[in-house]
Amino acid sequence: MPHEKEQDAGFIVTGETRDEFLESLWMLEETGKGKKTDRLSVFALAVKEGYIENNAGAEVVVGDMAARGDILLDGDYVSLSERGRDAARNIIRRKRLAETLLSEVFALGPMEIKNSACQFEHILSPDVTDSVCSFLGHPPSCPHGKPIPRGSCCKKLAHHMRPLVMPMKDLEPGNRARITFISPRDHGRMDRLSTLGIVPGTDIVLHQKRPAFVIRAGETELALDLDIAAEIYVKIIS
Ligand SMILES: [Zn+2]
Ligand SMILES: [Zn+2]
Repeated sequence: MPHEKEQDAGFIVTGETRDEFLESLWMLEETGKGKKTDRLSVFALAVKEGYIENNAGAEVVVGDMAARGDILLDGDYVSLSERGRDAARNIIRRKRLAETLLSEVFALGPMEIKNSACQFEHILSPDVTDSVCSFLGHPPSCPHGKPIPRGSCCKKLAHHMRPLVMPMKDLEPGNRARITFISPRDHGRMDRLSTLGIVPGTDIVLHQKRPAFVIRAGETELALDLDIAAEIYVKIIS
């Protein structure tokens, strides 16, 4: 992500820097569990994350954001205003949903997730964010175990939380489902599955889960390993 390299007292505070700062403050408030955050801790995090060069730069950002009403200053302490907290919640939600998407669906490792999710959070629009959330079944936490702030989609579906798309292994016997995508950890496995006709768009019925996981696809009965059934994502059709 691009960051201003030359930060002196006169540098321009961009929207992206503000977003990063809100995110840092949210994370410190989250780990501090309600304790006040002193400004030097936020500055240290901002410099560590690399979007602000030094404390002088951070003072400029703090001044700008206090003037906009995003943050509140109280002596050595800094906190999110109501408006800043709303903005930060959305940023954190987008980021953690992006991480979950990348980890669950594309099976990316932690480093790849860090790099891509960092860009995702600035790309997802509010509408897309809720679609991604619904698609993932309104996950409560990201791959790092941090809570994902709830969105309006989560409230609407609080009474029937069945996700739109789910791993085949979570089906119940008798469920009919259509394969939407497959995310195998190894590619040879993908080839073997497609030889068996297990490809996106195929309708299947789950016969039994124990002692073996058995599905019917067309006229064919197939026993699958549970870890394979965990990599095939389906949408229930009846
Ligand atoms: Zn995370
Ligand atoms: Zn949701």
